[in-house]
Amino acid sequence: MAATQLICRECATEYPLEARYVCSKCFGPLEVFYEHEPVTDVGSLRRRIQSGPQNIWRYHDFLPLEGPQPRTPTGLAAGCTPLVRADRLAERLGLGEVWVKNDAANPTHSFKDRVVSVAVTRARELGFDTLACASTGNLANSVAAHGAALGMDSYVLIPADLEEQKQLATAIYGTNLVKVRGNYDDVNRLCTELSGDRENWAFVNINMRPYYAEGSKTVAFEIAEQLGWELPDRCVVPIASGSLFTKIAKGFAEWIDVGLIDGEIPTMNGSQALGCSPVATAFEQDKDVCRPVKPDTIAKSLAIGNPADGPYALDLARSTGGSIDSVSDQEIRDGIRLLAETTGIFTETAGGVTTAVLAKLAGRGDIGSDERVVLVITGDGLKTLDAVRDSFHAYEVDASIESFEAAFAGQGVGA
Ligand SMILES: *Cc1c(COP(=O)(O)O)cnc(C)c1O
Ligand SMILES: [Zn+2]
Repeated sequence: MAATQLICRECATEYPLEARYVCSKCFGPLEVFYEHEPVTDVGSLRRRIQSGPQNIWRYHDFLPLEGPQPRTPTGLAAGCTPLVRADRLAERLGLGEVWVKNDAANPTHSFKDRVVSVAVTRARELGFDTLACASTGNLANSVAAHGAALGMDSYVLIPADLEEQKQLATAIYGTNLVKVRGNYDDVNRLCTELSGDRENWAFVNINMRPYYAEGSKTVAFEIAEQLGWELPDRCVVPIASGSLFTKIAKGFAEWIDVGLIDGEIPTMNGSQALGCSPVATAFEQDKDVCRPVKPDTIAKSLAIGNPADGPYALDLARSTGGSIDSVSDQEIRDGIRLLAETTGIFTETAGGVTTAVLAKLAGRGDIGSDERVVLVITGDGLKTLDAVRDSFHAYEVDASIESFEAAFAGQGVGA
C-alpha cells in the first residue's frame, strides 16, 4: 500500500499503521501519511480508476489498506453517489454553476458509510472482532449496518435524545444500541474511556480515527472524476468535528500532487448550525482554536460542541479564501425546502445547513458568477422528519371530481 505510516499533525512524530490516534509525545492527532509514486501515465491511471468497482474501493490506491483492491470487502458498497447539476437552485440564488453531491444516496443514507467502510476494513486487517462508535446519529446507522453485513458484534453509543428515525434505523440491524444520558461530547468521552480497556473493540471514530478520516477523501475523488477530472472552484461542506471538511481538501491535494488533476484546492466554505457553531465563531473572531459550546440545534448530526479538527478547519477556510458560516434553525428548515423544491433532493438538517450557507454566501456576493460550486449534501431527509413537520400544506378531498375541483376552486387547476 502507498500509506507508509501515521504521522502527528503537530510534531511530525511517526508511528506504524496501527490502532492509534494520538501522539504520545504531544497529544496531537495522528494522520495517515502516503508515499505515492509520481504518476507517469495519467491516462492509464484514470482508466484504471474508471474501470474499478462502482464504490469507494475504486480509489483503493489512495486509501490506507493492505492487500489487493477489494471490491466490496465490507458487504456495503459505499460511494459513487450522484453529482447533479442544479440549475434551478443556481437560478434561484443568482449563481452561475451549482452542482449537488448527493451523499444521501449511500447504503445507510449518509456519507458516513464511506468513513465506516474504510475504518472497518482496516480494523479487520488489524484483527479486531467488535465494532463500536460514539455517534451523532448517522454513524450509528452505518456502524450497525456494517456489523450486520460482516457478522461482527457492534456497540453503538448515542445521545439519549437523538431523533427517533435515527434510533430505529440503527436498532433494526441488531446492534447493541446504547443511549447515553448526555450530549455527544459526553458520549465521546465515555467511548474514549471505554476504548482504553476494550482491547478487541474498534471504535471507528476513536482508535480507528486516522483510517476513518481517510474515507472522506473519496468525496473529493468522486467530485473530480465526475467533473471530468476537473476541480470545482468552491465547495460548501458541513462541519461537525471538521473531519469531512478538511479531508475533502486533502483528497483534492493528493490528486493534484500526483498529477491526476490540475489546479488548486477549491475555496472551502464550512457550514455550521448557529446552535452549535464553535468553528464559525472562532472564524469570525479571528481565533486559531475553538471554544467548546453546549449544542442546541435541530441539526443534531452536526452537534459536536468540541470539534477535534476545528483548528485545521479554520486554517483551511482561511488559506483557501473561504469562510465558516453559521445559520439559524429557521434558515436550516428553509434550506431543506429550497433544496427539495429546486432539485428534488430531500436532505436532513445537515444539508439544510449547507444549502442555507450557500444562500447566505450568494446573498453576500461572495460567489463569482463564473464559479463552479459544489454543494455537499451528506444525509437523507427521511431521518429528520420532525424538522419539517407542519411546514407544508396538503389538500384532503373525497374521491370525487366535485370535491377535487372544490379543493382547488379559484386556482384554475385543470381549467
Ligand atoms: C457526521 C456528519 C457530518 C460531518 O461530520 P465531521 O465530523 O465534520 O466529519 C456532516 N453531515 C452529516 C449528515 C453527518 O452525519
Ligand atoms: Zn506529536
